[in-house]
Amino acid sequence: MKQPMLAAAGILFFSLRVLSQSPAQWLAHDMNRPRPPVVKPSDQKLPLLPPSDAVVLFDGRNLSQWRSADGSPAKWIAVNGYMESVKDSGYIFSQGTFGDIQLHVEWAAPVPAIGHSQGRGNSGVFLMGLYEIQVLDSYENETYADGQAASVYGQYPPLANASRPPGEWQSYDIVFRRPRFDRSGGLLKPARITLLHNGVLVQDGVELWGPTNWLQHSPYQAHPDRLPISLQDHGNPVRFRNVWLRELPEWSEAGPANTKRGPTVVLRSQELDRLVGRYERQTANKLIFTIKRDGGKLLGNFAGPSDIELVPHSEREFSLRWTAGRLAFDLRPGAKPSGFTIFLGGEEYSVKRVE
Ligand code: MG
Repeated sequence: MKQPMLAAAGILFFSLRVLSQSPAQWLAHDMNRPRPPVVKPSDQKLPLLPPSDAVVLFDGRNLSQWRSADGSPAKWIAVNGYMESVKDSGYIFSQGTFGDIQLHVEWAAPVPAIGHSQGRGNSGVFLMGLYEIQVLDSYENETYADGQAASVYGQYPPLANASRPPGEWQSYDIVFRRPRFDRSGGLLKPARITLLHNGVLVQDGVELWGPTNWLQHSPYQAHPDRLPISLQDHGNPVRFRNVWLRELPEWSEAGPANTKRGPTVVLRSQELDRLVGRYERQTANKLIFTIKRDGGKLLGNFAGPSDIELVPHSEREFSLRWTAGRLAFDLRPGAKPSGFTIFLGGEEYSVKRVE
């Protein structure tokens, strides 16, 4: 009996986990879900040209950086500096593969505006080909909140509807962090998206609970660290231009300070006590620095609001606990130090003892 009970408990746990991973209290595509407020974006200077380290996916000339799903040449049209989705030509995929990126896309919904809801100016930017940021003509066009322009499709409505009228160029600036999987394919960290639509923050580091989908709820499945970006053919002649990205360095984690600065030592009470005192830095305004003891620790107050622990590396050399800085006392045999020198940010400052 134990096994089935455990299995049942596992299913329950899994179900709760799946539910708890959905931050929405709404089912996907619920028309009752409140729409975000409409915000009129300010005028932007577009195109926003790529910075020096960008990978350019479309500069207005040709579709050489794109292909169809089967690898054949992309069947969208490239003309007059933009590319345009062609009905029934299929999604297009970047030739290159990417993971963590900053992505800039400019797009324009068709004029005249034809159709309504999801049928009007629909396309999409699929990060890694799996995670869609919706492209839709959401200017005075009602649809479900999690499917309007700048939504993470079926998951997160945008924080604001910052759409411009159809025919006008709009910008998406996307920061995408790919999901992380462990070696056995388990999810370590979900994908994360931050998005500015026409300069307005509309997705604020949201964590996706799986690939975006229509009707389905798709859980994460382990996939490569790099995959192509794709753009959607949803049957509407949506235009794109000036598509570029910057590959981002590995996500740095907050953590303890890097302590590669030599071995530490334990100093005796009298070795610490002789360093204690008031010191003065000669500047236009005299700055008083204080060195004091707290049990076995030496603390420094450098004219700031709080004390900083000084980590001993010898009887005269210390490092600052949380900062890449050093401090060296001018020690003379059998006497208190005459002062100390702080090495910080490529500069050094001498400080004299005053008592
Ligand atoms: Mg779409």
